[in-house]
Amino acid sequence: MKILSKSIIILFLMLTVAHLFAAKISVERIDPPFWWAGMKNNNLQLMVYGSNISDSKPTIDFKGIHLKEVIHVESHNYLFLNIVISEDAIPGTFDIDFKKCNKVAATYQYELKERNQNPNLHKGFDNSDVIYLLMPDRFSNGTPDNDDMPRMLEKANRSNPNGRHGGDIAGINSKLDYLNDLGVTAIWLNPLLENNMPAYSYHGYAVTDLYKIDSRYGTNDDFVKFVENAHSKGLKVIMDMIFNHLGTGYYWKDDLPMQDWYNQWPEFTRSNYRGGTVSDPYASEYDYNKMVKGWFDVTMADLNQDIEFMANFLIQNSIWWIEYSGLDGIRQDTYPYPYKDFMAKWMQRVLEEYPDFNVVGEAWLSQSPAVAYWLNNNTNKDGYKSHLTNVFDFPLMYAISKAFNEDEDWSTGTAQLYEVLSQDYVYSMPDNIVTFADNHDGDRFYTKIDEDINKFKLAMAFMMTTRGIPQIYYGTEILMTGEEHKGHGDIRKDFPGGWADDENNAFTSAGRSDEQNEAFNFLRRLLNWRKSNPAIQFGKLTHYIPENGVYVYFKNYNNSTVMVLLNNTSEIRKVDTKRFSESIGDNTKGRSVLTRQGWDNLDIIEVPAKSPMIIELSK
Ligand code: CA
Repeated sequence: MKILSKSIIILFLMLTVAHLFAAKISVERIDPPFWWAGMKNNNLQLMVYGSNISDSKPTIDFKGIHLKEVIHVESHNYLFLNIVISEDAIPGTFDIDFKKCNKVAATYQYELKERNQNPNLHKGFDNSDVIYLLMPDRFSNGTPDNDDMPRMLEKANRSNPNGRHGGDIAGINSKLDYLNDLGVTAIWLNPLLENNMPAYSYHGYAVTDLYKIDSRYGTNDDFVKFVENAHSKGLKVIMDMIFNHLGTGYYWKDDLPMQDWYNQWPEFTRSNYRGGTVSDPYASEYDYNKMVKGWFDVTMADLNQDIEFMANFLIQNSIWWIEYSGLDGIRQDTYPYPYKDFMAKWMQRVLEEYPDFNVVGEAWLSQSPAVAYWLNNNTNKDGYKSHLTNVFDFPLMYAISKAFNEDEDWSTGTAQLYEVLSQDYVYSMPDNIVTFADNHDGDRFYTKIDEDINKFKLAMAFMMTTRGIPQIYYGTEILMTGEEHKGHGDIRKDFPGGWADDENNAFTSAGRSDEQNEAFNFLRRLLNWRKSNPAIQFGKLTHYIPENGVYVYFKNYNNSTVMVLLNNTSEIRKVDTKRFSESIGDNTKGRSVLTRQGWDNLDIIEVPAKSPMIIELSK
């Protein structure tokens, strides 16, 4: 009897200890980690992650903060708190107490910051801008000390084309004067958020912490200072975001808040990458589901934005980065892949807080109507309204890649450019389209045009003067080459001179070859002229059917007119300007932007073989 009671006591004690141990409550993190007073939308959803946090009762006692709802989910280690921030809430720090049995078991100090009152922030980008896309790991290594970081799985290895090479924020910061000199006005950075994946982490598209800059690039604070620095030099910053997927190495990988946090399949199922199924009136459910719910890659978990918590999580994350770092714009990856109603809701929330903000969506579709489906204000037959402010012009990119390689004929050569632009009626806002010749996902432009500098000049002159907002891929200005089929590393090579031990420093004219200088100087002149020419930026485009291998168009704005002639043949062309009289108007003189040549009579313009000519007209 005595032995039995002793055993019972021991068992009881063991169970109590086990219970206490199991019930230990802690807070590991809260997302978003802080927020702001005075936002237009006064709702905030906090995602609390910590051991057994679901067993606790959270309380907040702070003027202006109302804990409206506490939501328990499948995993015991999460709580979602719906908070309402009143208009008179003042910035400050308050405790969120997590109580068990009326005792505080854990506390988190939450900060409500004061908003940055600078009226010049969050103004977006427009036709006055030229965007420079760069891959942070491959541009410039300002701090070799951070190439390898203790917690990060992948270490730097410059000899591996698909490995990490060490580029960082400090490096980009040190090249802002180079970018200013080139004449671009905005920088789009491939993703900088933490990608703690064992391989291929350099490209940034498998994020493992949405609230943290990858330590191999720098800190969150470094990024904020970088945006400030860029702004002080007149450069805008566009952040790359991905709402379709996250890296499978995300901290919650073994403990999802709920089973359908990700789109789950019985076995790994890849997306069919057919973005068109989302707008296709005849699409089968089978194809649509595979497109939207299939995973982008084995390392990229497909997010289920149909879940309100996931939707809020992503929406708040983007607003957090805009507010925190003073962004000018966002480039949203794989735009048709997340649920489209969620994307429209997200855009509305962003524009509610920042009415002048711009988001350019990657709707990688080859036909204009398919791209136009995603642009705001488009009248879609299925009733879908995206609220997306900008799209990339993939159809024109394909045309630019072919036009200057081809002989001129009814449907080849510059007729391809003419054809694509003539279909702009499908777009509600054609000026909001971002034009480009190459980006980080395809063959480099100089490779596509057989490394021919004349074709390069024709294409760049076209891109910088036609409608839209031009985007250049880093290194295109120094004629970098690369083929996608050799692996993505080949089209994302290091910018020469970005590393201390590089043989050539192409950031300086002395480090560039004659041909590279010819390309760089051509683009620099074009871009710096474009910066201050409202006719090219905002003018009305009128183009003429290509004739004798010459494509001619005009930009007209108030009383200012620019004439562009692209001679895509291997012979000099004498262009009779009679048929352009409606565009020339009473202008009688001209001056070439590229060569400074002048004309006192515009009747016949001679255009050298395989060359562009850009002429500012005057009376
Ligand atoms: Ca580095």
